[in-house]
Amino acid sequence: MLARLEDYREVAPPGTVDLLYRLSEKVKGRSLLNINSTRFGGGVAEILTRLVPLLNELGVKATWEVIQGSDEFFAVTKSFHNALQGREQEISERMYQAYVEVNRENAKHLLFEADMILVHDPQPAALIEYGPRVGKWVWRCHLDISQPMRRVWRFLRNYVVKYDAAIFSLPTFAQKLPIPQFVMYPSIDPLSDKNRELGRREVNKILDRLGIPRDKPTLLQVSRFDQFKDPVGVIKAYRIVKKHNDCRLILAGGLADDDPEGKAVLDEVKESAGQDPDIHVLELPPNSNIEINALQRAATIVIQKSTKEGFGLTVSEAMWKGKPVIGGDAGGITVQILYYLTGYTVSSVEGAAFRIRYLLNNPQVARKMGADAKEHVRRNFLITRHLTDYLTLMSVLAER
Ligand code: UDP
Repeated sequence: MLARLEDYREVAPPGTVDLLYRLSEKVKGRSLLNINSTRFGGGVAEILTRLVPLLNELGVKATWEVIQGSDEFFAVTKSFHNALQGREQEISERMYQAYVEVNRENAKHLLFEADMILVHDPQPAALIEYGPRVGKWVWRCHLDISQPMRRVWRFLRNYVVKYDAAIFSLPTFAQKLPIPQFVMYPSIDPLSDKNRELGRREVNKILDRLGIPRDKPTLLQVSRFDQFKDPVGVIKAYRIVKKHNDCRLILAGGLADDDPEGKAVLDEVKESAGQDPDIHVLELPPNSNIEINALQRAATIVIQKSTKEGFGLTVSEAMWKGKPVIGGDAGGITVQILYYLTGYTVSSVEGAAFRIRYLLNNPQVARKMGADAKEHVRRNFLITRHLTDYLTLMSVLAER
């Protein structure tokens, strides 16, 4: 059963739920329409699935519409996605046209009658060209567009400047724009299957099912098999550590359908792991939420050694379970890990190995860091904080 707002009193900082009720007084009865391009899969859908019902509980008429597009459209927007995150792409005139046509077509069927229209990411960004300008339009960008392919950004920017405001996940992800810009960190849901409390017996049962013995300290990285998550670097760090400290390494992750490079990275990881019985490469099917929860709870230290990262929510997921995290010095990892306090950011294999060894040799430090990490997440990266941000934004924009 889905958690209700009242259930968050147990997990959010004291006073949070009452504050949400008070904030909601200012925007009660107002409508908020979210528009994105997928109902399932990916962080945006995951967060909207929870935010929309909670906003309704608070008296906001929140709705969520998904634009429809052909395979061609999604191939185009995937290229946009890569180009905006700085990867060189071939994008033809025909591709730009396909993007515009799908947005125009979707606009015919959408009802834009809301006080605030929150458009997520580039796929539906051009809707603003065709919708009525009655409510406030806000573009919520979940990508790092700080170093985009210029031509693609110039094209998209023509739409973005028409919005009343834009929201980015980190200040460094943004671009210069003539509209107000806000920063809103993503969040995790502490009551979802991926993050809710699990008893030790339940954790052990899941570990048995996954074939993970519980006999020595465990290092864990949960990530798509993607070169930017640097799983091979994690294996190298583990090998350095292993010369001095006995431990296991679990690399758990799935292969996304839309990521043709994943299989190659997984093959490389398996080759690098070789026959070491203490390295477990787990291929997780989609929706392995409880499994990820159990693995994170069973880990001694969690690693997220990304060399390039969006926000990196796996870091907050692990911190919420009281784990110290050693993460790459990239993207949102740097705001989640408070250096020395909740974990370490590192920029090399040797640095990662050094920090892992230190925490394995100092379990009391690791425990304290994990406890502080949990509190840091409680205050900054829970869905209740995200709700506060949205309610505040609605009331600020309503006053403008
Ligand atoms: N995740 C998952 N299955 C996997 C790998 C990752 O469910 O096999 C989840 C992970 O728990 C987290 C999200 O996918 O909730 C990954 O988000 P993050 O921001 O860390 O990285 P992204 O994959 O978006 O780059």
